[in-house]
Amino acid sequence: MTATAGATERADELEPVAEFRARAKAWLAESMPPLTDGYTDRSEGRRPVERSLQARLHQGGFAGICFPAEYGGLGLTPAHQRAFTAESEPYDMPFSLNVPTLGILAATLVDFATHEQKLRHLPAILKGEELWVQFLSEPSGGSDLAGCLTRADRDGDVFILNGSKIWSSAAYVSDYALCLARTNWDVPKHRGLTMFIVKIHQPGVTVEQIRQVDGSMEFCQEFFDDVAIPASAVVGEIDDGWTVATRLLTHERMAVGGGSIYTSGRSVGHGPADGGSQLVDAVRASGRAGDAHVRQLVAEDHILQLVGGQLVRRVTQGMGTGAMAPPAGSIMKLYGATSWMRQAEIGLTLAGSAPAAWPAGEPPWGAQMAQTTLSRQGLSLGGGSNEIQRNIISERLLGMPREAAGDREIPYRDVRRGPSPRR
Ligand SMILES: Cc1cc2nc3c(=O)[nH]c(=O)nc-3n(C[C@H](O)[C@H](O)[C@H](O)COP(=O)(O)OP(=O)(O)OC[C@H]3O[C@@H](n4cnc5c(N)ncnc54)[C@H](O)[C@@H]3O)c2cc1C
Repeated sequence: MTATAGATERADELEPVAEFRARAKAWLAESMPPLTDGYTDRSEGRRPVERSLQARLHQGGFAGICFPAEYGGLGLTPAHQRAFTAESEPYDMPFSLNVPTLGILAATLVDFATHEQKLRHLPAILKGEELWVQFLSEPSGGSDLAGCLTRADRDGDVFILNGSKIWSSAAYVSDYALCLARTNWDVPKHRGLTMFIVKIHQPGVTVEQIRQVDGSMEFCQEFFDDVAIPASAVVGEIDDGWTVATRLLTHERMAVGGGSIYTSGRSVGHGPADGGSQLVDAVRASGRAGDAHVRQLVAEDHILQLVGGQLVRRVTQGMGTGAMAPPAGSIMKLYGATSWMRQAEIGLTLAGSAPAAWPAGEPPWGAQMAQTTLSRQGLSLGGGSNEIQRNIISERLLGMPREAAGDREIPYRDVRRGPSPRR
């Protein structure tokens, strides 16, 4: 998160934000396609489109605005990033490359990867050549991340990976993952974990897609059978993967909450399918713009978006200056998840029958609302559930007593648990 500190210190040497913004505005109008349904499109064909959109940003000199210049970024400030994001609002952008590849995984690489790892991967990511995912959750449970059962046993210059990860978004079309695995069973659970760079498509890794309630096949489960991972793929220190995982989760909460400095374009936590203007258009089109209850709901939706924007700004700035501790990312994440849920309910209430059936050829709002409704709880789980965010806020920001845990100080080998899940 300190990647742009250097840039901020030499801000007077950088292109002024207003000039950068004007240049970006002109380039975007010439170079990027207008936004249609890319924001909610989770079909198989979308990933290649996103890779090419990212490549276009890179060719135009607008990729990786806050990434270090040494690794292919622009080394500019969060103010430049905010200006670009504001101008990019009407355009199709590599939304799912933003999260998780850029906002979470690449951000974590910036913080913890070695110089060689950064040189190898960050420029490729910024060109849209590499998609990354997180291999964190396991079939035995995702909230207790430190209870990870996937193991990596050292054998000379390699680690042998065995186990299973689950709920990894779009792993089947991605290239690399940051994977948390247990490397030491003789210490308490948080102290025996290591983070690895894992090439997804290689011998010993089996990726299976999972069908979701909305029909999409984004989620995957991976099975590792004696996968040899070079020791040079360790990110951070051996047995200190918890430090890397904690930072990764902070980046995730910021990215999902809308406060990442590493992503360009609308964030996932900013209203289902652009509720705002589409909602007003739909209400007007249905002739109910004069109805008092309808107006209240439209206003509530608008206020949720306004408050969300201000909250993101305040917390991001607070974290940037050090006035707020990194766990403050949970405030944005929790707000984003709860307001998304409420906005989905408002959208569904106002949509009438549109999400159930929509005439062919009409704008895709009904279809978007249907998908948003079915997947509306996703943000309340992905990146840590709402309950976990509340735990973090109470314990790490408000200083309330820690949740009781019987397994925190004993060697993980002695912790009672279920068997490692196998196929
Ligand atoms: C859209 C989406 C994308 C995701 N992407 C990824 C990904 O790319 N990679 C990845 O690794 N994972 C991913 N996940 C998985 C996600 O991280 C987990 O779903 C999440 O951590 C919760 O884990 P779980 O589903 O196993 O639930 P569990 O951990 O089994 O929890 C079940 C319920 O118990 C509650 N609970 C658990 N512990 C506590 C506690 N201590 N205090 C209070 N309540 C508690 C939880 O809040 C939850 O309601 C994704 C999930 C979603 C929905």
